Amino acid sequence: VQLSEAAAQIVDAGRWLDARGWAPATAGNCSVLLDSGRIAITVSGRHKGRMTADDVMVVDGDGSPIDDRRPSAETPLHAAMYRLDTSLGAVVHTHSVVSTVLGRVLGRGEPDRGAAIDLEGYEQLKALRGVSTHEGVVSVPVFDNTQDVASLARTVEERWRGRPYVGYLIRGHGLYTWGTTMQDALNAVETLEFLLTCELERRKLGS
Ligand SMILES: [Zn+2]
Repeated sequence: VQLSEAAAQIVDAGRWLDARGWAPATAGNCSVLLDSGRIAITVSGRHKGRMTADDVMVVDGDGSPIDDRRPSAETPLHAAMYRLDTSLGAVVHTHSVVSTVLGRVLGRGEPDRGAAIDLEGYEQLKALRGVSTHEGVVSVPVFDNTQDVASLARTVEERWRGRPYVGYLIRGHGLYTWGTTMQDALNAVETLEFLLTCELERRKLGS
């Protein structure tokens, strides 16, 4: 993917997230891996529903900016995903209500495997990459929120090496997920937002 195409995909993705209320104010961010190995990512502090191509910038594979603009504060989390899975082409982060709330109240897992929300019994699970049946469990890790993004990126990488996952939640903060293309990543966002909403509704019913 070239920069102009990546920027167009990121601008469209921002509008799509904003239309669903999944990136309030200037929250959320998106990136696309470029053919050069660099990363196209949203500039820090821009409203995702009102971006133009100028609100997309380029960082190195390690997340360092290549011009004097400031990329999203969470750029190291994007760079980590492209390192962990070389098939990935896009990473998307939302601050939806459900992804913000669920990580605060659920996912207190056993200490040895870390906190996670286990999704099971949903037909929609099959929309996730690598899932071919509604049987089985899809485990979404939940990490503690921190302003030390480099440290969070290390936690994400450590958990991945134990067992790769389809996305993760940061407590009281939001969702990260990804795909081989931007469309693939947005499908993962839509599917996980749907499944997490189902899980929230199920818990509210006390079942
Ligand atoms: Zn965030």
